[in-house]
Amino acid sequence: MIYWDYNSTTPCAPEVVEAMMPYWMIDYGNPESVHQAGRRSAIAIAKARSQLASLVGCQTGEIVFTSGATESNNLIFLGLLLYGSQEKKRIVSSPIEHKSVLEPLKLLSDRGFEIIHLPVTNDGVVDIDAARECIDESTVLVSLQLANNEIGTIQPIEELTKIAHQKGAYFHTDAAQALGKIPFDLEVLDCDFASFSAHKMYGPKGIGALFVKGGPSKWPWIRPLMGGGQEGGLRPGTSNVPAIVGFGVACNLSIKGMSEDNARILKIRNLLEDAIERNFGGSLIHGKKSQRLPGTCSFSLSGIDAETIVLKCREHCMSRGSACTANSLDNSHVIKALTQEQNVINSTIRLSLGRWSKHTDIDLLIECIKKVALKMEKS
Ligand code: PMP
Repeated sequence: MIYWDYNSTTPCAPEVVEAMMPYWMIDYGNPESVHQAGRRSAIAIAKARSQLASLVGCQTGEIVFTSGATESNNLIFLGLLLYGSQEKKRIVSSPIEHKSVLEPLKLLSDRGFEIIHLPVTNDGVVDIDAARECIDESTVLVSLQLANNEIGTIQPIEELTKIAHQKGAYFHTDAAQALGKIPFDLEVLDCDFASFSAHKMYGPKGIGALFVKGGPSKWPWIRPLMGGGQEGGLRPGTSNVPAIVGFGVACNLSIKGMSEDNARILKIRNLLEDAIERNFGGSLIHGKKSQRLPGTCSFSLSGIDAETIVLKCREHCMSRGSACTANSLDNSHVIKALTQEQNVINSTIRLSLGRWSKHTDIDLLIECIKKVALKMEKS
């Protein structure tokens, strides 16, 4: 098996698994308990919180652990739906957001909010001039991702946050794909909220975080979930201690190794894109002119049906787009936002590389795609 789907999920780093081990059967106390077993878990959570805070450049008190970026995104939108202001009803976002942003926005739209999706260039970047026009005094929130999960494009968040704040709107960024893959500093980005996920950066699945500027007490409306008051009241429920510990270690590994990893991954991605362009006439690499995550390569092969390639090249784990929707073989809503050309939409494949990708896998992949394409041509 050759794995080309790191944006969908990554394997856990061995150090992550090792660090989690004691928290299943030895240090299993509930971190809210006052006894020594509870204290040990609480200390482990505090350490993980500071590891994540160091990676993203914020205070530990500004981190709320959640079950992942989906939940983090939902907390913001459902909070607004339940407790948002009656006057400010505009939310500005983009059509290339993850479904965990787009679906709640649909609900908000049904309930009287005005949702505006900014246009996106065919290079996968939101139009800044349109942002200036659309973000006005009636805007309560701007929500734009830091990096795209399908084409890897990086949005100019610092600039967009400034525009939002000038008009008195809050700024949220879904940073699930950026965490651990590109360096960023929340103090510089200056956003109010940011969503994170551990399983895209060699941490465990089912754990993530929401950054809330200034800490939970500053945001009494982000309370769609009710219960025992854990995580500053934003995310009640008994904490998933082993997963939080694993997330912290993954952050730490990223602090130490990100730049070395990125240099290696980028080299392989460039070789891969050269090979695609050399071997397939009329191929198109999405977002190539934009700033992109180093490991993401989304491309279309003129006239070749991507679904067949993904299904028939069985030893290569590839995807059409996001694996987070129920049927990951569907045409991608991200590519549809970039182009109306059905041929391009139907023939787009996403490859995403990571810590264990090898340049020697490139030839094997190209040969496999060629073989399947030839068979399709003959049949
Ligand atoms: N946002 C983005 C940009 C993502 O790529 C993903 C995962 N595909 C999510 C949110 C959801 O993350 P999680 O799996 O942690 O809920």
